Amino acid sequence: MSLMGQMMQMPLLISSLLTHAARHNGDTEIVSKRVEGDIHRTTWGEVELRSRKLAQALARLGCEPGDRVGTLAWNGYRHLEIYYGVSGSGLVCHTINPRLFPQQVAWIINDAQDKVIFVDLNIFPLVEKLVPNLPCVKHVVLMCGRDDMPRDHSLPHLHCYEELVEAENGQYDWPTFDENTAASICYTSGTTGNPKGAVYSHRSSVLHAFASALPDAMCIKATDVILPVVPMFHVNAWGIPYSTALVGCKLVMPGHHLDGASLYELFESEKVTMSAGVPTIWLGLLNHVKANGLKFSTFKTTVIGGSACPPSMIRTFENDYGVEVVHAWGMTELSPIGTLGRLKSKHSHLPAEEKQKILEKQGKSVFGIDMRIVDGEGNPQPWNGVATGDLEVRGHWVISNYFNIDKSPLHDGWFPTGDVATIDADGYMQITDRSKDVIKSGGEWISSIELENVLMAHPAVHEAAAIAAHHPKWDERPMMVVVKKPGAEVTREELLAFYKGKIPTWQTPDDVVFVDELPHTATGKLYKLKLREMFKDHKLPTA
Ligand code: AMP
Repeated sequence: MSLMGQMMQMPLLISSLLTHAARHNGDTEIVSKRVEGDIHRTTWGEVELRSRKLAQALARLGCEPGDRVGTLAWNGYRHLEIYYGVSGSGLVCHTINPRLFPQQVAWIINDAQDKVIFVDLNIFPLVEKLVPNLPCVKHVVLMCGRDDMPRDHSLPHLHCYEELVEAENGQYDWPTFDENTAASICYTSGTTGNPKGAVYSHRSSVLHAFASALPDAMCIKATDVILPVVPMFHVNAWGIPYSTALVGCKLVMPGHHLDGASLYELFESEKVTMSAGVPTIWLGLLNHVKANGLKFSTFKTTVIGGSACPPSMIRTFENDYGVEVVHAWGMTELSPIGTLGRLKSKHSHLPAEEKQKILEKQGKSVFGIDMRIVDGEGNPQPWNGVATGDLEVRGHWVISNYFNIDKSPLHDGWFPTGDVATIDADGYMQITDRSKDVIKSGGEWISSIELENVLMAHPAVHEAAAIAAHHPKWDERPMMVVVKKPGAEVTREELLAFYKGKIPTWQTPDDVVFVDELPHTATGKLYKLKLREMFKDHKLPTA
């Protein structure tokens, strides 16, 4: 007969992250640049107390275990209190991206059946318009103090956040329940079709927090000061609100002030050591520091993911500013961490240039995530760094189902990511494309990310996107859509010549078109679907 372990059974609950932070790092600061414009300071201890009061307030509003509570809010201490007050009390925290089209926001609220919506002051006009047509929403809570409450509004059940919290006494014990209970929901961006909900459990979220804080993952330590640029509505800010509580470090919340100048000021004034976000946001910050001849005094590491981080961006951060870039890959369905670019000990003797090449890839998987690449028939492909295949993953924080959709998304027990990738013999994965974005020229595949990375290293290029254009002979050929840096001059011919020697000649794009701006999705990724639509009638000079 097997012998059972004789250890305590304690469910992995989100509330335990916060109670740990409050008990062991209670005086560590949480600093927020508020929508109101000022800087607000609180601590993990204070956040824990106010989260308990918020849990009491939600019960008073009639919320019951399993009820969904929506948020339309930027990164800030009140949003943090909602994360914990909601999930900790057995409700489900549903973060919504306010940059989605209003009809998408309405669709998502209705699909999740949110009973309460918390909203930041500058997003209130959107909610005021949508809520009358959303019968599931019984209460709207405006995240502000009494003085900022609007006098004229049309909502019958509008509450003031601070009044709700202040009315409670905090005498509340975090409940204990099954660790597989739903803790939060995030919807995918839905650039094709309706958004789909990923429902995270307490268990998956706590395990993800452990793993993402590891030295070979985001390497989050109590001595760090972390500023998540990635919004709390984008896959729970990559779990940072949880992993920072787990290690008890200082957290700096930028609100909606995400332009280069505002970020730089906050990085310096709060002595930020670490950050995380998508490449587009870093373009803004790097432009600002370059234009003003600035340096960072404490900023040491940033995790970049959500889209491919161009190697030129990694080099600029490291060579010009001494900031280490950790390239990461993940997705909503993965809570989101999957792989990160970190070296192994056997790489320590390699020349800097070769190390850099390894770190440009999307990286190796953290414990808890397994991956494979398969061909069109589902056959596993070799890990040789050359063979491409559809990337599939499985693990403790990978979805098994989408919310409200019966059909399982899994293939043979694995989650098909929709990304195309190579994996090398050392287990380093490199994304070559979203499968929908692959450029198929005469039956051969060309990586749009590779084409973009080359031009992103050109001094006159601010941003570049590669898309497939129709070609009578090759079916598809790559074309580049480019935004120049302010004041920069460069021609189509110069950019095409820039590819010489950097990629196989036959992969060189057939055309370059300049535009003032590229379309982005609500999470800051290149909106390729829209781009392809814009250029669907484009006539290639080679056609
Ligand atoms: P989302 O669920 O909105 O976070 O989007 C996930 C998708 O973003 C992935 O399936 C990839 O296509 C893309 N993505 C995320 N991180 C990276 C990365 N480091 N390099 C390339 N693509 C990425």
